Amino acid sequence: MSFAEILQRPVWQIADAIAKGQVSAVEVVKASLDNIERHRALGAFLTTQPERALHVAEHVDAARARGEALGTLAGVPIGLKDPICTKDVPTTAASKILTTARRSTTDPELDPERGFRPPYSATVTSKLEQAGAVVVGKCNMDEFAMGSSNENSAFFPAKNPWDPTRTPGGSSGGSAVAVAARLVPCSLGSDTGGSIRQPASLTGTVGVKPTYGRVSRYGLVAFASSLDQIGPFATDVRGAARVLKTIAGADAKDATSARVEVPDYEAACGKSIKGLKVGVPEEYFSEGIAPEVEKSIREALSTLQSLGCELRPIHLKTTRYAVATYYIVATAECSSNLARFDGVRFGFRAPGKGDLASLYSATRGAGFGAEVKRRIMLGTYVLSAGYYDAYYLHAQRVRTLFKRDFDAAFQEVDVIAAPASPTVAFKLGEKVNDPLAMYLADVYTLPASLAGIAALSVPCKPAPATVNHPELPIGLQLMGPAFSEEKLFSAAWAFEQTCPPRTPPPTTV
Ligand code: GLN
Repeated sequence: MSFAEILQRPVWQIADAIAKGQVSAVEVVKASLDNIERHRALGAFLTTQPERALHVAEHVDAARARGEALGTLAGVPIGLKDPICTKDVPTTAASKILTTARRSTTDPELDPERGFRPPYSATVTSKLEQAGAVVVGKCNMDEFAMGSSNENSAFFPAKNPWDPTRTPGGSSGGSAVAVAARLVPCSLGSDTGGSIRQPASLTGTVGVKPTYGRVSRYGLVAFASSLDQIGPFATDVRGAARVLKTIAGADAKDATSARVEVPDYEAACGKSIKGLKVGVPEEYFSEGIAPEVEKSIREALSTLQSLGCELRPIHLKTTRYAVATYYIVATAECSSNLARFDGVRFGFRAPGKGDLASLYSATRGAGFGAEVKRRIMLGTYVLSAGYYDAYYLHAQRVRTLFKRDFDAAFQEVDVIAAPASPTVAFKLGEKVNDPLAMYLADVYTLPASLAGIAALSVPCKPAPATVNHPELPIGLQLMGPAFSEEKLFSAAWAFEQTCPPRTPPPTTV
């Protein structure tokens, strides 16, 4: 097996090859770093840490040589979404405000290498490192995870390897591109309202948004704390299962992490899904869905049926309120979470006129991008006296209705199958000046986030090439009750056997 070829393989095969000594961890990590370098133009990574990564890989190889038992991800290169803290490694959340201060100017340094270096690692980072995984770099994203196209990155957009004139989706766009282009076999993203599932769908990768509380958020730069969840991207379902198993579990450092035992998700891959009741929500096939997406999802549903699943039409009547509800709750929480970026404690500082208030406003004015400012303003408004009841409180009540809607559906069915995104990857620049159109692209992923349930996206039949575009990926979204990830993995794995992972054509950028 050549070193370049190794990265075409899924996570579990790479780990296996390293454990058996067929390839060394150093060789795999070098192949990954090489690929990242060669595909810089895709914009998948903000920073890489080659020395640190090779050092970890050498440790793995040495442990193997000594005959020690290796972790389940030993030697496997992984990319982390930028807001996932890694001790001493730049962490910017793709924002100017977390780049190092040039205290005498009003313009921050635009260099992610100069980013804030956290003095500690996120729980997920530590867990990955304990399992022997090798963090090769930090992935590009929309600033503070706000966006659906990766174009809100303060640095540069990420490009879709299937068609580099198109977006890979967002906000975890870089994490998705890194896996789709086989720069790494797996990565972590965060999903607040779809930021793992939508880019997974648009890049032909597997992306999992775990149940709220399944994975510790300790060390994740917060966007909307009641919605944020970290989850894996991988080239295949079993790879994603292995990574989730590694990062999941209760954590004393995150009070919202759940004390629920972590099952063996990998063992769920391969289990029969005969008799599984699959709900098909009518509301996810309404106006706005692109015909090629509907066609592919309907085909995927027939495939599930031929695998022995029982399809049942269901209703999720709250779906039409998802965009309005989410953009109240998420903006409210972000206005509060982002208050900490004030020019005093982290990163960039613009001096203002010498008093504290003008230091705050000069720093925040120059440090945040347009979308982040828009959301802070919206969030401050919906939380303000007089409007709190009408907007924020109301949205929280509607959120309960989402949960009830799903609870009722899960009385009838085991899982719900639907599209993850209403369209295939759209053109870079197409929606940047139309925030509402961008928000509407999230309509199929927001409900599961609002209800806190488990969901994933697995590639189904792509949209065939037309005069306007090459072949483009489409993702089937599977949703299940809280802590039902095993069921989702079983269904996704069985489906994947009928629709194996595809790799994008050699990139032209
Ligand atoms: N696209 C949604 C937003 O812009 C979701 C983002 C996310 O999940 N982080 O808020």
